[in-house]
Amino acid sequence: MQSYYANLGIEVTRRCNQVCENFCMRGASQAMDIPVEYIDLFLDQKRNQYKAVDQLLFSGGEPTLNEDAIVYTVQKIISEKLPIYHLSMVTNGLVYSDAIVQAFEKYNEFFNSFLLPQFAKENVKSNLEEFIDKNINTGTDILFSNDQYHHPISQDVLSMYYENGHHIRFHQTGDRDDSDILHSGFSDYGRNLTLEDNNVRVFNGLVMDLIYLTAKGNLSCYGDGSYDFLDQLSNQYSISSYTLPDFYMSHLSSSSVVDGKVLRKSKSWKKKK
Ligand code: SF4
Repeated sequence: MQSYYANLGIEVTRRCNQVCENFCMRGASQAMDIPVEYIDLFLDQKRNQYKAVDQLLFSGGEPTLNEDAIVYTVQKIISEKLPIYHLSMVTNGLVYSDAIVQAFEKYNEFFNSFLLPQFAKENVKSNLEEFIDKNINTGTDILFSNDQYHHPISQDVLSMYYENGHHIRFHQTGDRDDSDILHSGFSDYGRNLTLEDNNVRVFNGLVMDLIYLTAKGNLSCYGDGSYDFLDQLSNQYSISSYTLPDFYMSHLSSSSVVDGKVLRKSKSWKKKK
């Protein structure tokens, strides 16, 4: 079954260079980086039968502390011409990573010269050149967490990102209000994250919700929450055992539509490899 994925996420590390008291949803940092073998399995197009991925997010921990995994992933996308249409990263901005900036710049060249024209050719009926012009250099985003809970970002670090990442779109969170606080194990929508809600909406081959690969190599439908919560959700769903279709078919939301039919989550969909 060929599927489109709206959102994939990779937890590249559980290390962090800050302690955001009364704010961090993850809990204590852990000395753990993701092995690249898990990334290979997660993005293997033949194994996972994906047609396209709209967005791939690099998450943590603090992602810049494992720049090797991010560079590896970007090189893989480019060398294998994977149909992954957008890269993003959230960082606390304490570290300037030239390796990540250069990798994102290279991805942008690949996006502009290969992915975007290919997408336009397959999907845009008229004004092809106008569509390409409008979307050029929209392949990568970096979001800086510069709210009141994080250590202030040094202007020198910010300047280096802005000066060297010519084609990267940069954003800053700014201060957050109370409703936007992510407490450990809670979502920003002000309700508990629950094991029962660990599901994805799928509509005729389009996987609408995030599928998240933890640094331990396990799959979850949540990217938010503490490490303990994520581990509890995901520890039975190793990427070594589950392809992406196997995983989402075992976590279908009750409103999902497959082959035109509304399906209910059922144990019969769990197909372990
Ligand atoms: S909120 Fe982010 S920067 Fe702060 S301790 Fe947690 S992972 Fe680190």
